[in-house]
Amino acid sequence: MDNAPFEGPRFGFENTYAAELEGFYTPWQAERAPNPALLHLNIGLASELGLNPEELGSERGAALFSGNLVPIDASPIAQVYAGHQFGGFSPQLGDGRALLLGEIVDRRGIRRDIQLKGSGRTPYSRGGDGKAALGPVLREYLIAEAMNSLGIPTTRALAAVTTGELVYRERPLPGAVLTRVAKSHIRVGTFQFFAARGDTDRVRQLANYVIRRHYPTISAETEPYLALFKAVANAQASLIAKWMGIGFIHGVMNTDNMTISGETIDYGPCAFMDAFDPNTFFSSIDTGGRYAYGAQPSIAQWNLTRFAETLIPLVDEDQDKAIQKLTQEVKTFRISYMRYWLEEIRRKLGLVKENSSDLELATDFFQIMRDEGVDFTLAFRNLAKVIIDDNPFYPSSFANWLPRWRARLDEENTKAEEIKNRLLSANAIYIPRNHKVEEALNSAANEHDLAPFLTLLEIISHPYEERPGLEAFSQPAPSGSAPYKTFCGT
Ligand code: AMP
Ligand code: MG
Repeated sequence: MDNAPFEGPRFGFENTYAAELEGFYTPWQAERAPNPALLHLNIGLASELGLNPEELGSERGAALFSGNLVPIDASPIAQVYAGHQFGGFSPQLGDGRALLLGEIVDRRGIRRDIQLKGSGRTPYSRGGDGKAALGPVLREYLIAEAMNSLGIPTTRALAAVTTGELVYRERPLPGAVLTRVAKSHIRVGTFQFFAARGDTDRVRQLANYVIRRHYPTISAETEPYLALFKAVANAQASLIAKWMGIGFIHGVMNTDNMTISGETIDYGPCAFMDAFDPNTFFSSIDTGGRYAYGAQPSIAQWNLTRFAETLIPLVDEDQDKAIQKLTQEVKTFRISYMRYWLEEIRRKLGLVKENSSDLELATDFFQIMRDEGVDFTLAFRNLAKVIIDDNPFYPSSFANWLPRWRARLDEENTKAEEIKNRLLSANAIYIPRNHKVEEALNSAANEHDLAPFLTLLEIISHPYEERPGLEAFSQPAPSGSAPYKTFCGT
């Protein structure tokens, strides 16, 4: 059978990107998967999208989510973008192994992209095979869903299929496709692609599209493009503060992996930190630790500066004035990030009121965690036990800090029970622990056993709810384990 798609069902796709942004993509088709099988369907998300999960099960789901069956109202395209990768500019990137099927307006009225990742070569594949291996697909599935359950804006995983063919990395691996759902796949790098070519008209066209789609309220502003920058910087400040609050390390914060919508995207070498150390990074390709935990706010600001550069000709006819205005906003990012960070940590410490001493209280907690190298997630989670006198173990260096914090809690004038509940709903007990993620991926990819993946997915989908029997899932890797490394998985 040739590559021509046969007509699939109607999904209610709308394809505004394809319709309104000609020149920003290439119409394309997925490569045919020889023997697709549905591994997992996200039933909750399917319903959110107004899709019928029963129609998407088994064979039909496998055909749809591998790209073999194209919905009749889809308009598959590969999007073009550029980006700074580890500080160096690549003028020509794009969906090298992904295909945007189209957009669905979900039950809440939000327009969401439906994208296949791993569906074969496109005009933007460069030397790559356009494919994805099962391990990285399930990894993205797990981490995206964990992030969502932790309340972090993120792209979602709708489905995972195996393709029935091998992909060749260091060794042959089962091939797979992830169906990813995003508010959009527009990146800082999408703006950079046109800005680098001096195509101001297209940068403006893209900016106008983004304002309509993501930030409609700013269209009435007198300086809409400056307002767009502010809105994106604000969304990123809030996002990065949330990452910092859960010990998340993205690992590859290139400008092509930073969304304009403010969702976390592209879960490659990302991981959660165990022992707290701001210098932590896991990615095997991030040799300098450019994207270490503690560097993330500065890198976000650096990436936003690249975004600001693309908007200069739009912000003011007078280039100097434009630069001045944008520079001011880039500086403001730091302040708004700190505001979001403190808000986040206050919440994690059970505080609702604001007190001028809170910043010091928060930074001291981080400093002690660092000195002791305690587990980041459990250091916060166990605070609830201090309230209920469950006598959790905190090293003696917390001996001064804990009474200070309790004295601060007294100022909340709130019952202990309520404080405890605040703490338990702000601090997760289950995160995707690195060794558990590896276990799940290994079983799936090497032993055809999906059970550990399904178990882990279920656990991290309820991250705040402590349940008996799951003790092993709340603990970091046993001491003496080899240092954790992640690989890009492309
Ligand atoms: P990433 O590191 O996943 O953000 O991808 C960076 C760039 O490499 C993007 O343009 C991707 O489309 C491209 N890319 C990554 N993996 C592959 C692959 N297996 N085949 C083709 N292109 C790829
Ligand atoms: Mg990417």
